[in-house]
Amino acid sequence: PKTTPSDAVAQDNELREVIVIGSGPAGYTAAIYAARAELAPLVFEGALEPGGALMTTTEVENFPGFAEGIQGPELMEQMRAQAERFGAELVTDDVASVDLSGDIKTVTDSAGTTYRARAVILAMGSGYRKLGLAGEEEFSGRGVSWCATCDGFFFKGKDLAVVGGGDSAMEEATFLTRFADSVTIVHRRDELRASKIMIDRAQNDPKIEFALNAAVTDIAGTSGVEKLVLTHTVDGTQRELDVQGMFVAIGHDPRSELVAGQVDLDAEGYVLVQGRTTQTSLPGVFACGDLVDHSYRQAITAAGSGCSAALDAERYLALLD
Ligand code: FAD
Repeated sequence: PKTTPSDAVAQDNELREVIVIGSGPAGYTAAIYAARAELAPLVFEGALEPGGALMTTTEVENFPGFAEGIQGPELMEQMRAQAERFGAELVTDDVASVDLSGDIKTVTDSAGTTYRARAVILAMGSGYRKLGLAGEEEFSGRGVSWCATCDGFFFKGKDLAVVGGGDSAMEEATFLTRFADSVTIVHRRDELRASKIMIDRAQNDPKIEFALNAAVTDIAGTSGVEKLVLTHTVDGTQRELDVQGMFVAIGHDPRSELVAGQVDLDAEGYVLVQGRTTQTSLPGVFACGDLVDHSYRQAITAAGSGCSAALDAERYLALLD
């Protein structure tokens, strides 16, 4: 049966087929596929950021199907409407706790209402670490970025800074030299954490300079970023760096606290999935998007794995029947 009302007739006790947690490209795509498979998914969109990471950006130029580009919030509104059109039930609330161990999973919202489902799709995304500077939010999308793949193209012929000292900072800096005139890697310590091969590549690049023992302490500009204030982390002296863009590459945190201790996570907190599937360590629990993804973290890859999660859930449910 598609849905089995339980003894208690309260709606929150309805036994659902699928609950999706998260409303970025992964969650909405999972919802579209599950809804079109007549699984009537219940989707928790999250209270803080319904629509996910792209709600915080402007132009998205690399999502296929939009030759002229599309604004991030508009793209997400389209995905949301598409999920709703096929019968996904959307709830703009956070999931506060889950119990994923049994055949019937329970999901409790922030008001304390518990929902039951035979399968759960996890799509909570991951958050970019921020520097915590006042101007960081103000200049987000106007010179401050967390993704060179997404935004590098907007910085042709500019001078840029990349903040961070790990492999991803070296990779972002090297990638950005395709567009930028110069890239300064700003790092708090005198030693970089990145692997030797990545450091060598950056050091051998004539467009890359290093500002070590330096922290960005202020971002200045009018309509966009014009300069950064760098403070020496040892002697406290300050200097200005004239750049039109700053890429923050100090890591990301997958939002897996909700399921920690229930499904297996890797050392960095990403949900582990089996092979090319979205199957987690628990039967009936699937994970997709940036929550599982160390490598790609793009809207299209998140959407692709959201599709896989819905198909995996559909097949799991079909085998139960
Ligand atoms: P997210 O989009 O992060 O969505 C996760 C969702 O889960 C959110 O809706 C959140 O509210 C919800 N959630 C989390 N915890 C809970 C909970 N407990 N209960 C309920 N809901 C919860 N990618 C591109 O391809 N092109 C670009 O141009 C591009 N630009 C970007 C610009 C910026 C500023 C940023 C930050 C990212 C950009 N990206 C871009 C990356 C892209 O946004 C992500 O790869 C993509 O959004 C990941 O999708 P996701 O569905 O996995 O997670």
